[in-house]
Amino acid sequence: MATILDGKAVNQQLIDELKPRIAALTEAKRAPGLAVVLVGNDPASEIYVTSKVKTCIELGMRSEEIRMPDSATTAEVLSQVDALNRDAGIDGILVQMPLPKQIDSRAVLLAIDPSKDVDGFHPVNVGNLVGNVPGPRPCTPAGVMALLKRYGIALKGRRAVVVGRSDIVGKPMAMLLMHEHATVTICHSRTVDLAAECRRAEILVAAIGRTAMIEAEHISEGAVVIDVGINRVTSRDEAMRLTGGNPARMAGFDKRGSIVVGDVHPVAMAERASAYTPVPGGVGPLTIAMLMSNTVESAERRLG
Ligand code: NDP
Repeated sequence: MATILDGKAVNQQLIDELKPRIAALTEAKRAPGLAVVLVGNDPASEIYVTSKVKTCIELGMRSEEIRMPDSATTAEVLSQVDALNRDAGIDGILVQMPLPKQIDSRAVLLAIDPSKDVDGFHPVNVGNLVGNVPGPRPCTPAGVMALLKRYGIALKGRRAVVVGRSDIVGKPMAMLLMHEHATVTICHSRTVDLAAECRRAEILVAAIGRTAMIEAEHISEGAVVIDVGINRVTSRDEAMRLTGGNPARMAGFDKRGSIVVGDVHPVAMAERASAYTPVPGGVGPLTIAMLMSNTVESAERRLG
């Protein structure tokens, strides 16, 4: 029977551990502050920003939510970032991506003070990650590492395969695994014989953005499988096929008209893995906990 790596439970542990640190900062100096900048009204971004702000408030942190219109210019966003860089009560700045297409996202990213870059995407922090120097780490891969650690999954000397090489998930994930002494292979859309590469993995991480692309033939018996993918399935037949007709999941489909499935086939993963992250409830919940953790760490550094 495979172990289910419960992201919700670990998220709660991480949040609970932050509470005394936030209380200590608030008592000694001030509450940690996170600013979230949302440009336009992309529905998915709205949901992410709302839950980030909600968690911040629940933790007693200062939360600034800055909303800018879809028509905002690069100069206007840069001016907002500049004001937040100079705001002594703000420890973390997050500009929700994607930005409307007229905005120069790279210029915005470069403008964020690296010491307030709680996403860990600024080139200075990418350099810190590569050099294994302390600094904020990208939240999703950092969440995966926290999960592996809490479940005592050994990494040293083990073969890890990461499918996906994006700047926000795949690449930093591979770096973090390598720093823990795993032997890491990175796969992508040009990889020849993806299944054979994946089957070599003792730890397999899928961050692809393609519904259930990783199937039984990719998973070696007993591997630990981390499914980062978040994909919405709106066809009932497809949901039946992917869940093996799981009654609870199909009831969810019938209620909402869709279900969320990862990049790994859920039935294949449950049958072949020794431990795996479910979708939903695996990697997803940890991203926000790591964002809060990066903000608290930034506040601790800034406030001495
Ligand atoms: P990107 O689209 O930026 O990157 C996808 C990667 O997958 C690319 O490197 C691409 O290769 C690779 N890829 C695409 N098709 C194939 C294929 N057929 N075979 C092998 N590799 C392939 O996605 P992200 O990294 O941003 O996100 C990945 C997934 O993770 C998405 O489902 C996203 O929704 C989810 N996600 C979840 C988060 C969470 O909190 N749980 C947070 C962030 C993302 P190439 O470089 O060659 O194009």
